[in-house]
Amino acid sequence: MHTLQLAVDDFVDNSENYTQAVDLLDNGEVVAFPTETVYGLGAVATDEQAVKKIFAAKGRPSDNPLIVHIGTAEEVSLYTANISEVAKKCMEAFWPGPLTLVMHAKPNILAPSVTAGLQTVGIRMPDHPVALKLLQTLKKPLAAPSANRSGKPSPTKASHVFEDLQGIIPCILDGGRTGIGVESTVLDVTLSEPVILRPGGVTKEMLEEVIGPVLEPSFEQQKIESTPKAPGMKYTHYAPDAPVYLIDADEGIIEAAIANLKSGHKVALLAPECFKEMKADYYFSLGEAHDAEQMSAALYDALRACDKTAATIILATATSKTGVGTAIMNRLEKAAGGNWYQP
Ligand code: AMP
Ligand code: MG
Repeated sequence: MHTLQLAVDDFVDNSENYTQAVDLLDNGEVVAFPTETVYGLGAVATDEQAVKKIFAAKGRPSDNPLIVHIGTAEEVSLYTANISEVAKKCMEAFWPGPLTLVMHAKPNILAPSVTAGLQTVGIRMPDHPVALKLLQTLKKPLAAPSANRSGKPSPTKASHVFEDLQGIIPCILDGGRTGIGVESTVLDVTLSEPVILRPGGVTKEMLEEVIGPVLEPSFEQQKIESTPKAPGMKYTHYAPDAPVYLIDADEGIIEAAIANLKSGHKVALLAPECFKEMKADYYFSLGEAHDAEQMSAALYDALRACDKTAATIILATATSKTGVGTAIMNRLEKAAGGNWYQP
């Protein structure tokens, strides 16, 4: 299969590219498109055959449900029942934006694979001009996980999608780099107390200002839970080829680690700019120190870049678990399988 890459920036007349993408989707195909978080791989969410193509293209386990993207907030009532006051407040405050709400699904409307057999569905309205234009032209909901091969870091550029899915999907809408760089916050609002199933761009603090107390299980708590509430949590995620280890963002500790590893390893270091002089074999910047927005925007590109090197071990600096730092550490802990570098 040939994979079309269609530019959809604002400087050229791109209406034909949207028409082409909409035609493909209407005909049961999958299309990759940018959102404000990461690139998504979309299919019409009511079309079971089309949705199955997403799972096939990604190599995604079939028990991992997909997020449904909508172009207008009103559409939410077409797919969900018993919308709570908490859910309404969240939509009002954070849509369009990087917040997925897990709600009660109306039966027999969405393709069964979208919800992976659950009675709930995760829905969001993305805040990206290309995603919104695509959805509003299509006038149908799009089921869309991240547009990467399952297990790999999510794509933040069209070229990342191309690397993973060329020849497997028919079309990529190229809208440049995505802004936030980590996936949406997933908030379950079906329970008496809302629970963050996955941290993201909308932080616990931001949510609590609008809806009061919110639960956020830690990485360790999620690991020991036998039936994960977000089925995706049990799978390996965001992993480059070489093993990743978390390390403190401390010059002495990093220097000693590199010196120690150098004899048997090619070492890649993912760290803020202030560590770029460290003597690693490969260095990838995570932006200015203490700037969580720069770090989240750079993270997946840096993890993916490691696969283009001969690195045999990857050290990634930890950051504080506040604000967007919570989402960054969640992805890094998964990329590292919870492992910290031990001398
Ligand atoms: P991805 O599509 O790769 O961004 O992953 C979507 C995440 O949302 C996964 O961790 C899913 O398990 C989670 N998710 C999607 N729908 C639901 C749902 N109905 N209930 C719980 N978690 C969900
Ligand atoms: Mg994903």
